[in-house]
This record gives sequence, C-alpha cells and structure tokens, in this order.
Amino acid sequence: MTLIPLPALRDNYIWLLHDQGHALVVDPGDAGPVWDVLRHDSLVLSTILVTHHHTDHTGGVADLQQATGAAVYGPAGLPPLPCPWIGLHDSDIVQALGHRFAVMHIPGHTADHIAYFGPCDDDEPLLFCGDTLFGAGCGRLFEGTPAQMLASLTRLAALPDATRVCSAHEYTVDGLRFAHWLEPENAYVADRLAWALARRASHLPTLPSTLGLEKSTNPFLRTHQPAVVSAVLPAMQLRCAANPDPVSVFAALRTLKDQF
Ligand code: ZN
Ligand code: FE
Repeated sequence: MTLIPLPALRDNYIWLLHDQGHALVVDPGDAGPVWDVLRHDSLVLSTILVTHHHTDHTGGVADLQQATGAAVYGPAGLPPLPCPWIGLHDSDIVQALGHRFAVMHIPGHTADHIAYFGPCDDDEPLLFCGDTLFGAGCGRLFEGTPAQMLASLTRLAALPDATRVCSAHEYTVDGLRFAHWLEPENAYVADRLAWALARRASHLPTLPSTLGLEKSTNPFLRTHQPAVVSAVLPAMQLRCAANPDPVSVFAALRTLKDQF
C-alpha cells in the first residue's frame, strides 16, 4: 500500500492510502488536493475517515462523498455531516482497503477526537492521530482537560514503537524548537530538529514519524523524564519536587508551549 501526505489549506495534511486501485483519505479539510491524486493515479475513493469535528478536517468530506459514494466514518459525537456517515466508538473496527483499523477515543484536543490504528496485522502500522499527537508536540486543549489529554497520549504511547505517526498538521519544527529549549542536552531532539529544518527548506514533509522517535523527542510523551520535569518546575512555582503529579507536569508543559 502507498501512503501519501497531501498538503492542504495552510499547514494541514490529508493522509491518502491506496492499493493502486482503491483509496482511503483521512481528514479531507479540502477536496481539491484529493481530487488531483485520484485523477492523476486513477484511484477510486472508497473510504473517508474523520478524526474530529474541526472544519479543517471535514470541509471536503461532503463533496468527496457525494461524488464517489465513499463510506464516511467519524466519531459518534461528531456534529452531523451533510452526507451519510457512520459514527464510531472506542474499540470499533473499520474495514478499509481490505484491512482492519482499530478506533481509539482520545479526547483532549476536542471531546469527540478519535484515532485510527492499523492495519492491525502490519509490522509498521499506521496511526492517524489527527490533532492529538504532532511531530514533537500535541494538540491544544480546546475541549479537554490536561488529565484527559495525558491519558490519551499515554494510550497512544503504548502502541508499538514502529507505528508510523500520521498527524494532521506540519508543526514538527515548531515542536522541536520548544523541545530543544526544554531539553538542550537531548541529542535526539537536536538531530531531529536539524533534519526537520532541512526537510522543510526543501518543502518536504517531516511526517510520518515513528512512535519510537516521538518517545525520544516529543516533550508531551516525556513528562516522566527528569530533564522535562526540572524544566517545567519553575512554571509550576516549585523549586524541587520528588514525585510531581504527572497531570500537573503535563498541564505546566502545555501552558509553557502555548506561551513559547
Ligand atoms: Zn483540530
Ligand atoms: Fe486541525
């Protein structure tokens, strides 16, 4: 199967997966870039997956569905779409392109947010994580609490390290600049920042990454690391804490990133 990140809108990626005949897209905020690939590669769109209700993820869904008859899936809590769609809950399975994708409810960025993980039998499975996990970052907490987001990210972090992380925005350089400021001694962060800057200078995507790489470079998956904890202590108005509460560390980290 072929995986393509389609740049869309300002800094979104619409992920397109195809088997030379049929295609699946995730979060088509704009139908235009999807049409270009379907025509150019003579693909039939069979499935549309939506991670959450923001319009930069749903704006192209109805056009694509009406023209192709593709099956549309989204979180059960999604405000109704102007086309037929199927609502999903945690641990549901979606069949697409002959493969199984598992649904994970991961609230925090929005209350309805879900991720798709699969194919379930692949050595390097894909994680379509929308605006929950970014390259070296995580989504802003628009509808959720720090505790919810930390729990959601902890669930994602338990997936295999080889999982390919397919986020919905190109925010990696921004995330790595913050990570480098937090953990200047972390060589994985420094290396990834240099690599990401070179990729972006050539207008190439920095995604997908892997969950293994995120675990070594993404501060929001590293709230248990002593270096990250000591970097956020001043923001927590603490000078030292032997066992800081992980949710408080996460909340302070999210606030620091919002202000960075
Ligand atoms: Zn969003
Ligand atoms: Fe978004």
